[in-house]
Amino acid sequence: MKYKKIVVLGSAAAECIPAIFCDCETCRAAWKNGGKDFRLRTSYQLGDFVRIDFGPDAMAQEYKYHLHSEKLRHVIVTHSHDDHFDTTLFNYRRSSFSKVAPDNTLNIYGGAGVVRKINQFAWNGGKTLGFHGDFSCLQMKVHELYPFQTVELPDVDMTIYPLKANHMVSVSTEEPMIYIIRWEDKYFMIANDTGVFCDENWEYLAKLNIKLAAVFNDCCGCGYDRFNNHMSGKYVVDTKQRLEELGLVDASTQYFVNHFSHNGHMTHDQLEARFNPEGIGVAFDGLEVYL
Ligand SMILES: [Zn+2]
Ligand SMILES: [Zn+2]
Ligand SMILES: [Zn+2]
Repeated sequence: MKYKKIVVLGSAAAECIPAIFCDCETCRAAWKNGGKDFRLRTSYQLGDFVRIDFGPDAMAQEYKYHLHSEKLRHVIVTHSHDDHFDTTLFNYRRSSFSKVAPDNTLNIYGGAGVVRKINQFAWNGGKTLGFHGDFSCLQMKVHELYPFQTVELPDVDMTIYPLKANHMVSVSTEEPMIYIIRWEDKYFMIANDTGVFCDENWEYLAKLNIKLAAVFNDCCGCGYDRFNNHMSGKYVVDTKQRLEELGLVDASTQYFVNHFSHNGHMTHDQLEARFNPEGIGVAFDGLEVYL
């Protein structure tokens, strides 16, 4: 049987854990504990060719996990926040910086905010030019995604199902995404950086006749009550329960919380004590999930 491997490259929110400049109790505990309490910014690798999110730790994650970004063909981005989409590194696909094989095209996918950001980032001799949709000098193509409109990635046998994330709610033009991905015969969901799901998502999910082999559910921690932009513990449990009621999640689903903030004030052990009894695992940097 051929397994499909997802590697969690990072499991933290923007400031990482231990957080930069921070001397809070949780960050002190993380420095003391090390191991799973050290968290880089959230990102996932799917096999050799596909990445979900590409943040400012992309280079560190490349070395730590021997990722070989020259093999990447598809980068699927949840939203334009800097911890998920650091556009600077893409400039080094230019011929004067990197040797990129002539048949290597890197496809970037995301909602309106992601497309806008990558069009603005280009520079040349210190001057920002903007790409205006033409990324040929970087051997890249940018594809805008729209909620509830699926996109096929035929060369890796995947389909992207974009759903609406409850995130960046004050930026009406962003269109942040939750993704369900079909990978060959399996489906999984990436739902970091979202509060409780909107009604449109639930209506869409109710019509999807699929079983999720894995779910990565946003969790900023349990230290405070949060249901917009991110979600805290009780909303994670509610979300799992509703997915179970719809038949998308069952006992065979590998259900994880991910994307932790030190402001949630929980160590890895404390998160496990909270979530494991609910049938929910706690993601950490380097976690490998097999579908
Ligand atoms: Zn984030
Ligand atoms: Zn802290
Ligand atoms: Zn975010």
